[in-house]
Amino acid sequence: MRECFEVRDLDAGGRIGELSVPRADVTVETPALLPVINPNLDTLSPRRLADEFGAEILITNSYIINGDDDLRERALAEGLHDMLDFPGAIMTDSGSFQLSEYGEISVTTEEILEFQHEIGSDIATPVDIPTPPDVSREQAERELETTQDRLEIAEDVDTGEMLVSAPVQGSTYPDLRERAGRHAEDTDLDVFPVGAVVPLMNDYRYDDVVDVVAAAKRGLGADAPVHLFGAGHPMMFALAVAMGCDLFDSAAYALYARDDRYLTVRGTRALEDIDYFPCSCAICTDHSPDELRALPDDERESELAAHNLHVTFAEIRRIKQAIRAGNLMELVEQRARAHPTMLDGYRTLLDHAAQLERSDPVSKGSFFYTSHESARRPEVVRHHKRLERLSVPDSLLLTEGSAPRSDEYDDSWRVEPPFGPFPRALSKSYPLTAEVPDRTDRAALAAAADGVARLVEVNPDADITLAHEGWPADVLERVPDDVALVDLTAA
Ligand SMILES: [Zn+2]
Repeated sequence: MRECFEVRDLDAGGRIGELSVPRADVTVETPALLPVINPNLDTLSPRRLADEFGAEILITNSYIINGDDDLRERALAEGLHDMLDFPGAIMTDSGSFQLSEYGEISVTTEEILEFQHEIGSDIATPVDIPTPPDVSREQAERELETTQDRLEIAEDVDTGEMLVSAPVQGSTYPDLRERAGRHAEDTDLDVFPVGAVVPLMNDYRYDDVVDVVAAAKRGLGADAPVHLFGAGHPMMFALAVAMGCDLFDSAAYALYARDDRYLTVRGTRALEDIDYFPCSCAICTDHSPDELRALPDDERESELAAHNLHVTFAEIRRIKQAIRAGNLMELVEQRARAHPTMLDGYRTLLDHAAQLERSDPVSKGSFFYTSHESARRPEVVRHHKRLERLSVPDSLLLTEGSAPRSDEYDDSWRVEPPFGPFPRALSKSYPLTAEVPDRTDRAALAAAADGVARLVEVNPDADITLAHEGWPADVLERVPDDVALVDLTAA
């Protein structure tokens, strides 16, 4: 059990947790957003982030501070909390990204962590190697080894109460990400950023992001707080949380504002293309798009940054509420409709349904079937596993219709797409209380047929009859041949 992190509520792979940050004497509720503060550019002041936006934690770059004489001296003299005027927790990035872009490092892991400690960081980051996607396996392995060596050094640096993060690298090789996750988990480091995913997100490769996170999560323990490093667009938070990410950092709110770009949960819009604001934050209700466009540059940038951040925090709250209500997957489905590449991300998430099923609560509010992808949700996977443990009589009718009056069968179970068969006594239990559209689809029927097949497979000696409402031939092909079929619509 990691002392700094406690999971409170779960839904799919998503969780509401508490990250205790002892050096700041602050408890951060996750999923949490860490606004990125560039100490040279005060787009929105850290004090305002805390007071107006409720930010409990932010992230700034110790590499930038170290490289600027004035900032370095102030940070060492005053400490980051006073220098930035921020009452919450402060995480520092080491500048791995900058170092990987601009050349070699001349400082050691000890020096880098000690500097972050001296300036008053609450969560520090060692310098890892952010290996980009699609490099050769040999490069990914070699760089991962260097990262792991540095994490082992970091473990031994005396950093007092300061938490230290352990980045998980491994490029786009799932087995390396998993190995990296397991190695990081075995250190006594505290927070686990999944690193070098920014190039994937810049290319809209949300499917690969999901595979990379899923692999890292398989290596990390269930109680490890996971930071999706560089993920700041609210459109993809629900997807990332459902996969099990707890922390996000956003530079996007400020960077996009600089380019007159307006964030929404369905994507980014150019301010010049907007006729109506789809948002009810103070900026969007106080200004029309024309009024916002007419503001002087610096004012417009700061107002846009504030809107961008309001949208971002609102999405985090919406996700937490969805976890509490047990409908995070429905929110992910909605967000998946914003862009075809988000749909790829969601479909890839469902490839990991068995992994999500392990943390998904057994009972929740109500399962809404809202797209054919719903047929692959963790609840369906779990029901099919559960079928293996149910006892089956010698002769059994599985029917989409009502129970038969005759005693032709020892028992009759209901069949509901997408779950498949279940004893009538389970009708009132989650997820079999699901709300499913009357106009069902092939994916739901196929999943139900797979449920029937599973039941037959584990009960080879039972006589099983399936009475269905006109299932198409290609769906019925999934049902084993020794099942007797009755088409209820043929009568
Ligand atoms: Zn707004």
